[in-house]
Amino acid sequence: MSSMSDSTAFNSLPLSPAILANLESLGYQTMTAIQAESLPIVLQQRDLIAQAKTGSGKTAAFGLGILAKLNPTYFAVQGLVICPTRELADQVANELRRLARAIENVKILTLCGGTAMRPQIASLEHGAHIVVGTPGRLIDHISRGTIKLNSVQTLVLDEADRMVDMGFYDDIYTIVEACSPRRQTLLFSATYPDNIRKASEQLLRDPVEIKVESQH
Ligand code: ADP
Ligand code: MG
Repeated sequence: MSSMSDSTAFNSLPLSPAILANLESLGYQTMTAIQAESLPIVLQQRDLIAQAKTGSGKTAAFGLGILAKLNPTYFAVQGLVICPTRELADQVANELRRLARAIENVKILTLCGGTAMRPQIASLEHGAHIVVGTPGRLIDHISRGTIKLNSVQTLVLDEADRMVDMGFYDDIYTIVEACSPRRQTLLFSATYPDNIRKASEQLLRDPVEIKVESQH
């Protein structure tokens, strides 16, 4: 069906030529299902709850939203991604770095536990545009005053169901409260149980809800 290729083409989205060229060089020919459903909403600056499985391409679904409105000449945290584990935070940061090749001088920093604080503080002082971190270490930086989140335009809760299952809800709430109230909030979850529904009511503003069953 020819109409399908149009709605899954990245160039059907309001993305810059540099971002589109980079996607092509990464070999991303068409959007995955979650990307095709979420990116139009993300790029309209709406809040979003997206239910999709691992491996479905969620990182680009929120990463392109962060990058589309990022100002690299402004040295403040503009995008914040909260992940349940260090491994997931590293994966997300690596994928964001590939996507960010489109824009010069974008600094992406991971802030996870099990690593010395001092180099993280030095990196924050040097200026980071996008931070990817785990709840405990983010709380640590907030309480020491070593991170400022008042310029966050895009806040992402990745694998939200896992974070709530791990007992991170109160930490997440504290982090979200430290962000600019004018932010866009995107919540990604593999499942959508009652506790996630309640959390999203507290943390998101009039979100669009989408659910993607298959990968493509
Ligand atoms: P998830 O977070 O949903 O588990 P990822 O964002 O990590 O998934 O993406 C899974 C893999 O698919 C990554 O290797 C990524 O580079 C690749 N990928 C994402 N979007 C596309 C696309 N549109 N075309 C081709 N590969 C893609
Ligand atoms: Mg992921």
